[in-house]
Amino acid sequence: MPHPPRIAIIGGGPAGLTAALILHRGGHRVSVYEGESSGQQRTQGGTLDLHEDSGQVALQRAGLLEAFRAVARHEGQEARVGDPWSGAITAGGFGPEGSMDKPEIDRGDLRQLLLDALPADAVQWGHCLSAMEPADAGRHSLRFANGVQAEADIVIGADGAWSKVRAALSACQPLPTGITFFEGWIAQPAADIAAMVGQGSLFCFGGEEALFVQRNSGDRFCVYAALKRPSDWLDAQITQQGMRA
Ligand SMILES: Cc1cc2nc3c(=O)[nH]c(=O)nc-3n(C[C@H](O)[C@H](O)[C@H](O)COP(=O)(O)OP(=O)(O)OC[C@H]3O[C@@H](n4cnc5c(N)ncnc54)[C@H](O)[C@@H]3O)c2cc1C
Repeated sequence: MPHPPRIAIIGGGPAGLTAALILHRGGHRVSVYEGESSGQQRTQGGTLDLHEDSGQVALQRAGLLEAFRAVARHEGQEARVGDPWSGAITAGGFGPEGSMDKPEIDRGDLRQLLLDALPADAVQWGHCLSAMEPADAGRHSLRFANGVQAEADIVIGADGAWSKVRAALSACQPLPTGITFFEGWIAQPAADIAAMVGQGSLFCFGGEEALFVQRNSGDRFCVYAALKRPSDWLDAQITQQGMRA
């Protein structure tokens, strides 16, 4: 293997960018290949909580713990449980496991923090891995949907649940759990809704349906509706009534 080895990271989500920054700080040459065309292509989803003994350890190694703590929403750790029928708040506080040190950060803000600390050319946007094959001398050949080909000595798969890289190690595939999440946003929540949700998250469980509401930065709310239904039932509903309904 050449020194330094060429390291390719597939996926520029929280895991891929954090790994890239830690390796970069260690003097390694790293390229991140991300399928999205830019950091702004889509809303990144709701907030993430970074725990003292996992996510925060990684950010410390990446040199970003102080920067994270400066923008993290410590009050966002508040967790409430609501009765889905009456709307009454039946439980509240700061989470069942007792840890008070798992502040929240918007995914987009975390991604930007990591991107700002990496060299400008570290991420190759618009590079969606379509295949990875063995190449000469133990290297790996990477083919991307945009026609680009590359080689690397080490490949790190950080390409999420439907990882293409995983196939190099295991034949395992994700299995549907039967639970589907729909994501929506409330840009300007009404005062009574905002008061109900509090500073962090509100969880409402009603049999095979659940509603989770998370306060994000700028007082925007991310809403997840979770349904436990067979996928063919959901597909039929969406075909007949549309995704919004
Ligand atoms: C509905 C839902 C709700 C969640 N809620 C929370 C929560 O409230 N709090 C919390 O802490 N965590 C939550 N999580 C978990 C959190 O989202 C994950 O732990 C986190 O996103 C994992 O980061 P990652 O970088 O490994 O993968 P991802 O965030 O999935 O990032 C993978 C990246 O790889 C890219 N990619 C994918 N395929 C390719 C390819 N072939 N080529 C190139 N790039 C590719 C994607 O575009 C993406 O940028 C939730 C997850 C889900 C699904």
